[in-house]
Amino acid sequence: MAKTYSVFAKENPERGQEGISAFAVPANTPGFTTGKIDHKMGNRASPTSEVIFEDVRIPARYRLGEGFDGFKIAMMTLNESRAGVGASAVGVARAALEAASAYAKERIQFGRPISELQAIQFMLADMIMKIDAALFLCWKAAWLYDNVQHNTQESAIAKCFAANIGIEVTTDAVQILGGYGYMNEYLVEKYMRDAKLHQIWEGTNQIQRIVIARQHLG
Ligand SMILES: Cc1cc2nc3c(=O)[nH]c(=O)nc-3n(C[C@H](O)[C@H](O)[C@H](O)COP(=O)(O)OP(=O)(O)OC[C@H]3O[C@@H](n4cnc5c(N)ncnc54)[C@H](O)[C@@H]3O)c2cc1C
Repeated sequence: MAKTYSVFAKENPERGQEGISAFAVPANTPGFTTGKIDHKMGNRASPTSEVIFEDVRIPARYRLGEGFDGFKIAMMTLNESRAGVGASAVGVARAALEAASAYAKERIQFGRPISELQAIQFMLADMIMKIDAALFLCWKAAWLYDNVQHNTQESAIAKCFAANIGIEVTTDAVQILGGYGYMNEYLVEKYMRDAKLHQIWEGTNQIQRIVIARQHLG
């Protein structure tokens, strides 16, 4: 779908991560093609496929940065984008909370709406607390980035925490809808599938923990 691709390539494989350069490659470059669209568990509104390079030659002006600084560019990009991925997880969690709350007020069991049951109220309260905490972590990471301050640890914390609460909150939303929660007639099962991706991309949550610990230990 994209007109331009951000490509990180080993310009000098012997130099390891110091040999990576970043390039902006237009999709109409000869030799550049994309593979089939992958069938995914969720996040299907955003198509994903492999990208194929066959004898692709590009002019030097497509290079981003100075050259051999691709790893640094990637890390700087992640400092920004991880707060955004966290915010996306918060958004999915919020949508699930809204859907579960509306359903709980409508669903009558044993003569009263299930929203009047303390078990359901406590689940909703936990969902609200988690969403609020994740939101503030994302805002903190984004604020630091906007104010040109170091935010490597904060963006990893925001992404990791928000992705985890995304899974917890959407799973609870499915639970609140009971049997309907498991049906694709309602959106909460989609939210649960969409939430999972946040624990994986932009660096898995295991990698975020490595980043957080390394930043802490110095
Ligand atoms: C829908 C989708 C879209 C994507 N879009 C893009 C994109 O646009 N651009 C892009 O560059 N990438 C993209 N990715 C790739 C994504 O960033 C990677 O899949 C992700 O970073 C995990 O890497 P991996 O799949 O190689 O997993 P692996 O590195 O093979 O990890 C497998 C498992 O091992 C664990 N693991 C690996 N190393 C360690 C370690 N050192 N310590 C502890 N645990 C470890 C991981 O946490 C994971 O649980 C996309 C992925 C998906 C699913």
